[in-house]
Amino acid sequence: MPYTQSIIDALKKSSPGQPEFYQAVLEVLTTLKPLLDKEPKYLKNKILERIVEPERQIFFRIAWQDDKGEVQVNKGYRVQYNAAIGPYKGGIRFHPSVNAGIIKFLGFEQIFKNSLTGLAIGGGKGGADFDPKGRSEAEIMRFCQAFMTELFRHVGATVDVPAGDIGVGGREIGYMYGQFKRLRASHEGVLTGKGILYGGSLARTEATGYGSVYFAENMLAARGDSLTGKTCVVSGAGNVAIYTVAKLLQLGAKPVTVSDSKGMIHHAAGINLDVLKQVKEVERASLTRYQELCKDAVYIPVADYPQGRNAVWSVPCQAAFPSATQNELNAADARELLKNGCICLCEGANMPSTLEAVECFLQAKIAYGPAKAANAGGVATSQLEMAQNAGMQQWTFDEVDAKLKNIMKNIFTTAHRTAEEFGSPTNLVMGANIAGFRKVADTMLALGVY
Ligand code: NAP
Repeated sequence: MPYTQSIIDALKKSSPGQPEFYQAVLEVLTTLKPLLDKEPKYLKNKILERIVEPERQIFFRIAWQDDKGEVQVNKGYRVQYNAAIGPYKGGIRFHPSVNAGIIKFLGFEQIFKNSLTGLAIGGGKGGADFDPKGRSEAEIMRFCQAFMTELFRHVGATVDVPAGDIGVGGREIGYMYGQFKRLRASHEGVLTGKGILYGGSLARTEATGYGSVYFAENMLAARGDSLTGKTCVVSGAGNVAIYTVAKLLQLGAKPVTVSDSKGMIHHAAGINLDVLKQVKEVERASLTRYQELCKDAVYIPVADYPQGRNAVWSVPCQAAFPSATQNELNAADARELLKNGCICLCEGANMPSTLEAVECFLQAKIAYGPAKAANAGGVATSQLEMAQNAGMQQWTFDEVDAKLKNIMKNIFTTAHRTAEEFGSPTNLVMGANIAGFRKVADTMLALGVY
């Protein structure tokens, strides 16, 4: 579409060197074509040009002292992308690969994901190029405090409410929240993913992984099928992957893989959840430790992966759950999954499949759950945490889980019905993008030019 291309070309010129960001924008804008053809008001009012541009980007220095007393300097980011329908909301990522383009791709996706949840939350994202690996507990704490020492002036319970993402879990949220309270001298729900003792929500830790599996169940139910008895592959071994494995096991499916940045585990008997949690949540160790504790599992280091490929995707399965990071699944991986009989792919991670891989899944018409629909359970439950904080309440695990299940069902129904409305019933990428966009765009029109 020439109009879309002109927007991408302009972004490449004004924001050079941000390939993941262009990829995310291209995917969304391309799938909006049927809506833009039907409703000229969006192009006439320059909604596309406005929505690709963040409302505000904050780049900051984080200086902190390591255990040897040496000063370390990192780059911090918070992109407040779009607050048309509610306060900015989106996670914080600590990983050495973090840069402005990665945070913008994540923030852009977040706008439509948050809109799809049906809740009043805008899109934002943040992070730092800090590598938590090998850092002591005290170093993690000092870094989190230094990060919040700048961020606190830009966030607030009705302004911008960050959460966790890669490298940021309950421990890091606790340190950041402590620093916020010291600086502001107030107790407000400025972060989600907090500990249960101080304003966190039960089931928030589990929400993204559980939500991804609920989404897959909805996709399969619409096809008269279910996950029960299916062999599944999962990538990642962090928050999303662990609770994807947990829910798959509860539903009688058999997850047989997990992976981290150093290698993967193939456990044909089924992943042992207790061992996985012990290794990753308690010991914070590499997956080689899983193999030490489960001798019948096979460990494959990244060095032995087939060239340029993630070995997880060559394990035969009926359902796949990429839950580690962006662009971890390419077209060759997609073709191998399909050849081996995979009929369902549900994205726990953000943008894990390349554009070419997505095309393979859409052409094969398998049950394909795109990230912004499939992993929205995390942010939706964060909003439930905000609601509990605002009402000074704490709901039970079962109450929150029931609401999460319902939200995932609604997201599936919305994406599915919208895809049908625009003539491509199996294309949930189109359905999710159009539905997420339409609510934000119509609100922007209602609010006047800004
Ligand atoms: P996490 O707890 O930090 O776990 C990330 C996992 O992915 C770790 O096992 C990590 O291995 C692996 N990983 C990260 N980067 C990798 C790379 N470049 N190559 C190979 N493996 C890599 O993070 P998470 O919260 O589970 O997030 C995973 C994905 O889900 C991300 O795309 C995130 O944006 C998305 N997501 C998360 C949430 C949430 O609520 N947490 C919500 C929506 C979407 P190492 O430990 O070895 O680095």
